[in-house]
Amino acid sequence: MNNVYFDNAASTPMDPEVFEHMKPYFCEHVGNPSSTHAHGRNLRNAIEQARRTIAKHLNATPQEFFFTSGGTEADNTAILGAVKGYDLKHIITTPIEHHAVLHPVESLEKAGMKVTWLSVDSKGNIDLAELREALANNSRSLVSIMHANNELGTINDIHSIGELCKEFDAIFHSDTVQTMAHEKLDLQAINVHFVTASAHKFYGPKGVGFLYVRKGIKIPALIEGGSQENNRRAGTENPASIAGMAFSLDKCFANLEAKNEKLWALKNYMKAELETHFPGVTFNGEVAPGKSLPTVLNVSLPCGENDCMLLFNLDLMGISASGGSACTSGATVGSFVLKAIGASTGALKNSVRFSFGMQNTQEEVDFVIGKLKEIVSPQLA
Ligand code: PLP
Repeated sequence: MNNVYFDNAASTPMDPEVFEHMKPYFCEHVGNPSSTHAHGRNLRNAIEQARRTIAKHLNATPQEFFFTSGGTEADNTAILGAVKGYDLKHIITTPIEHHAVLHPVESLEKAGMKVTWLSVDSKGNIDLAELREALANNSRSLVSIMHANNELGTINDIHSIGELCKEFDAIFHSDTVQTMAHEKLDLQAINVHFVTASAHKFYGPKGVGFLYVRKGIKIPALIEGGSQENNRRAGTENPASIAGMAFSLDKCFANLEAKNEKLWALKNYMKAELETHFPGVTFNGEVAPGKSLPTVLNVSLPCGENDCMLLFNLDLMGISASGGSACTSGATVGSFVLKAIGASTGALKNSVRFSFGMQNTQEEVDFVIGKLKEIVSPQLA
């Protein structure tokens, strides 16, 4: 075994069935979906069918969705659009959002926007009382809080956050990139105005995603040009990717329980094996069902003050994982998420995020445990 991929939170491998579904859209189904002739209409139908499939699974209407180039564009469109469209003067968010949220918020802050950065506890949870206070003490706010954290796997209670936003008439955007097609999401039951998705996080193609905008919410387009997507996102649509994304989402929802059972079994197995073979190992973020994603296990290995150079060594051994510390210009820089939850210096240096997908096996976990022993044991001697 020399090719183990445990970085599914970064990107899942594309499901071959999804690829088969996409193929005809490259060479067979020619035309532009905006054209009114038969070729154009054929592609338009495929796009509208995809929109209906997505809407059905999320209990929303097709008109509430438009397609984007992925999660980053969807997050940017929601945040910048809400601020501009509603002339908002205050944003509430957390320091452990994905950069697709952090960077637009930081740009707005530099330009004079008031931003309340909520605190997070040692497992990446927010405090709802603090959110209430921030909402109560400010004029109409945009709240941007992710559904689940991509590094830690910790899940936020977006239902309760949505209820608070309703009470204070705030606009609520949630980056749902890590939970979309992994968890059930009923958009009628949750008071959220924007959610986002990226197909390559659920076995679909890279470079395509969508933004849900609740009926009645009006935001300006981020990308201007043609009148595609009902004037909400200019540019010729990508029918192959859109059809592939909807097919993949449909398949994920059809197998949700079995899929999550398998992923939980893998995560729990790896956690138990790590605890057996590495006394002193700790886990970053929540790890229990209901509070965390089955796809993510963020681990701090007991290397003391030494640097086990985990990602580097794992890579040499044919194992792809990520998170934890990343080597930039020769200096080891700890993860900003781990820093924000107050991880120790040792944990900052010696953490790694393993993230699981449907293709992974228990044998791969065993292989990784064996290799981790080779890496960590000499550091302890
Ligand atoms: N938000 C979260 C939580 C993510 O994990 C990612 C991808 O890493 C993104 C947004 C960005 O998505 P995309 O890669 O489609 O731009």
